[in-house]
Amino acid sequence: MSFDVIVVGEGIAGLATARDCARAGLRTGTVEQLMFGGLVTSINELVDWPAEGGDPCSGSDVATNWITEAADAGVESLGGCAIGLASAPGGLLLHTDAGSHEARCVVVASGASRRPLGIAGEEDYAERGLSHCADCDGPLVKGADVVVVGGGDSALQEAAVLAHYARTVHVVHRGSAFRARPSVRALFERAFEGRPDALQVHWQSTVSAIEGAGGVEAVIVDGPSGASRLPVRAVYPCVGLVPNSGWTGLATDAQGAIVTDDRLAASLSGVFAVGAVRAGHGGRLIDAVADGALAAKSVKEALQC
Ligand SMILES: Cc1cc2nc3c(=O)[nH]c(=O)nc-3n(C[C@H](O)[C@H](O)[C@H](O)COP(=O)(O)OP(=O)(O)OC[C@H]3O[C@@H](n4cnc5c(N)ncnc54)[C@H](O)[C@@H]3O)c2cc1C
Repeated sequence: MSFDVIVVGEGIAGLATARDCARAGLRTGTVEQLMFGGLVTSINELVDWPAEGGDPCSGSDVATNWITEAADAGVESLGGCAIGLASAPGGLLLHTDAGSHEARCVVVASGASRRPLGIAGEEDYAERGLSHCADCDGPLVKGADVVVVGGGDSALQEAAVLAHYARTVHVVHRGSAFRARPSVRALFERAFEGRPDALQVHWQSTVSAIEGAGGVEAVIVDGPSGASRLPVRAVYPCVGLVPNSGWTGLATDAQGAIVTDDRLAASLSGVFAVGAVRAGHGGRLIDAVADGALAAKSVKEALQC
């Protein structure tokens, strides 16, 4: 076998796992389809992450620290997009679009992707007013009206960023109370302090259509008193995540998250799952790092070293 363990995904869960496996003396490889860091690379101000000296820190800083620690520990970054996983004599075979690798164990850390709104023609507005990164394009909506769809952590985090740029931030939420954690709510409330008119919350409402010829010009909001047209320059969908588990063939729950036992072992022998791709993930970076530590321990036990 070439590798003791291969970790699929260089998000924070994958890098934490890989670092701890390599530090335990295991020959460890990682496979990443895009760029290291995963979901948090576009976040400028992290919440619930213990920054040094209490200063806010960015997702790309955290990702850079973890990739450096993994490399220093001896992790080999192989690259490629994982497309399949199978048992092989003495271990596992991981297929990627850049070739196949043999490993005694595989840790799936392929995370999750943003869930689309699920409305007709949505994809036509990508890069034309439909955005998943307020930190990246906030300056482009300076003085404009924008809409964030959702009521959880990422919706309020995006709205807080947009508060610095937009004239009005509309938050369209299908529920009648926000689901975000207290720390994220505090960030959100601070962002609109002294500017209450800059925030308009549409409770028990959904966005059913996006309108505009060259880009986003308006959304149709369905609420308790019927449908209304809301003129906006940009739409930020934050309606949850879809686990990137389809390529694995492993057992999942109804949401597509990989089912694991309390050692993070998945349904195929020698395979473990960590972070946002697994059912029961706590949702924060510190949960992803804790998963990494546990998975590394489980891999060591499985390999009896
Ligand atoms: C908008 C937003 C803001 C957030 N802000 C915070 C915050 O402030 N504080 C906090 O604690 N948490 C925050 N989180 C949660 C945090 O991002 C997640 O808990 C964490 O990123 C999960 O890490 P992960 O490694 O499991 O997955 P991901 O970050 O999704 O990483 C998975 C990696 O796997 C790669 N990959 C996927 N499929 C394949 C494949 N087939 N082959 C190879 N590679 C693949 C991806 O490219 C990606 O790099 C936020 C989440 C979102 C969406």
